[in-house]
Parts: sequence; C-alpha cells; structure tokens
Amino acid sequence: MQVILGLGTNQGDRFAALKTATQKLSAQLKNLRYSGLYSSPAMLLPSSPPEWAIEFLNMSVMGETEANPEELLKTCQQIETEMGRAKEHAKWSPRVIDIDILLYGDVTLQSKSLTIPHAELHNRAFSLLPLLELKPDYKHTKNLAENHGTKRIGHFA
Ligand code: AMP
Repeated sequence: MQVILGLGTNQGDRFAALKTATQKLSAQLKNLRYSGLYSSPAMLLPSSPPEWAIEFLNMSVMGETEANPEELLKTCQQIETEMGRAKEHAKWSPRVIDIDILLYGDVTLQSKSLTIPHAELHNRAFSLLPLLELKPDYKHTKNLAENHGTKRIGHFA
C-alpha cells in the first residue's frame, strides 16, 4: 500500500530530527520519497506558555508498506518514542518529532486509535502543502491561500 506520512518537529535540532526520523522510516517503507521542507508557526492554546511558540519544521514522506494501518501507527509511535518523545505530553507542547499517517492508499477508516485520512489534513497547510508535492492530484477542500504562515523553505534531500 502506498502511504503518506506527515512529520513535524519544533524541539532541539529540528533538521537532525527529520534526518533521524526519515532514516528510521526508510527501514520500514520502500521507495521512500520526500517533499520539500516547510516551516510553520506552532499551534497553541490560549493557555499555552509563550515559550512554546517555536516554529515547526514540517515535511511529508511517501512510501510503500505491507503493514496494516494499526501496525504502521505502532511503527510511527515507536520511532517517536525512540527519539525521545514523552508518551504523556500536554496538548501542543513542543515535540522532538511527530509522525502522523496522512493517507493510507485510498482507505478511509475511523477507529479508536486512527482516523484516516488524518482528521486535520484538510485544515492544515503544513500537512497538505507537503503532501500535495508528493501527490499533486489529491482532492482536498482547503483554500490554500489561507496557509497560516506555512512556508516552503527548501529541499530536504
Ligand atoms: P499526536 O499527539 O498528534 O501524536 O496524536 C497521537 C494520537 O492520535 C495517537 O493516540 C493516535 O492513536 C491518534 N491518531 C488518530 N489518527 C491518527 C493518524 N492518522 N495518524 C497518527 N495518529 C493518529
């Protein structure tokens, strides 16, 4: 199955985190391809401490897997844990790496642990813009003129 994952990081050496995460993902996904690199402002709650306002680096990767969606989610979560992401974290606190399943082929699914396509994909320019580089024909509902500060800042690889 062809899948697209969304990666985001806003803690520590953000570029190094993307390098490490993509290296780990390359062991799990075949024919891995990368979008460009994007930056986007952190989404915060009114109650979030101002020091959480650290710009994210975002990108998407596309590859093929034989894992089912739950297995793929476990792989993504294991990589997050290996890279030091705390299991319990406050909503939208800074994170060394976040890996979301954006698309799993054309599959639509909703379970306790997974919503595919990702529930926020059509609301988030930082997910959708990198995804569209990898899958330009993806049909979506977002007005991309409203990109909430998401900028393409260069190539990843
Ligand atoms: P986050 O804090 O963004 O890493 O959210 C992780 C939680 O979102 C996990 O508990 C997942 O079970 C859940 N989740 C639901 N849909 C997805 C998806 N498409 N990709 C990754 N995580 C998902």
